[in-house]
Amino acid sequence: SVLSAGAEGIGLFRTEFFYLQQKEFPDEERLFRYFKKAVELVSPYSVTFRTLDIGGDKFISKLDFGKEINPALGLRAIRLCLNQKTIFRTQLRAILRASAYGKARILIPFVSSLEEIHKVKAILQDIKEELKREGHPFDEDIPLGIMIEVPSAVSICNFLAREVDFFSIGTNDLIQYALAIDRTNEQVAYLYEPLHPAILQMIKTSVKAAKRAGIKVGICGEMAAEPAYIPIILGFGLDEISVNMQ
Ligand code: PEP
Ligand code: MG
Repeated sequence: SVLSAGAEGIGLFRTEFFYLQQKEFPDEERLFRYFKKAVELVSPYSVTFRTLDIGGDKFISKLDFGKEINPALGLRAIRLCLNQKTIFRTQLRAILRASAYGKARILIPFVSSLEEIHKVKAILQDIKEELKREGHPFDEDIPLGIMIEVPSAVSICNFLAREVDFFSIGTNDLIQYALAIDRTNEQVAYLYEPLHPAILQMIKTSVKAAKRAGIKVGICGEMAAEPAYIPIILGFGLDEISVNMQ
């Protein structure tokens, strides 16, 4: 359906769907089978696999890290993955192994500091060496990107751009965290404004940083699916947009 809709690849493969409402977490072989199928199906285009983004409003029953007073600011996404390295490594191994069968990219959600990306790169390097020792083929140059969806990432985007191969701007969360509006709270939904000057400014800043560093930048938040916003988004110089398939 992706290809017949005219899309050029999958811009946001939300891997959390394998974890939500599951009795057991998927093991490496199961993830590998799914990921391999995805890259083969959209070949010659690429699949951007976003590593696990759970926590916050993305509830998961199997993991219990105790009650968090502010889950949206808590152990979510990359924070959870760096805390639960076995889950993270299993995912990365499966993505890397699938990358031998087509084009894959790795996308890290909810990055808010340089340190996080340094840690991710060290883990990725370690896994690559492990896979080599085991004789598994994979794409050595698999692109590594980050979601720009936390305001602090925008502030340091010049530095982040030097560390990664692409940016994907997650406006759903960027709007939530920049404008202090719970994206799931209907009572404040009227304040959820993608064209707020603060958001447009942040998109512009992120795109500029990406261009300066010579890396690709796209938007994968829902605002990219709104035709009225497309001219504005393209005007900023975005390389790609990723939208939902209806
Ligand atoms: C975003 O935050 O814009 C995004 C694409 O990710 P998610 O909606 O899965 O948080
Ligand atoms: Mg998000």
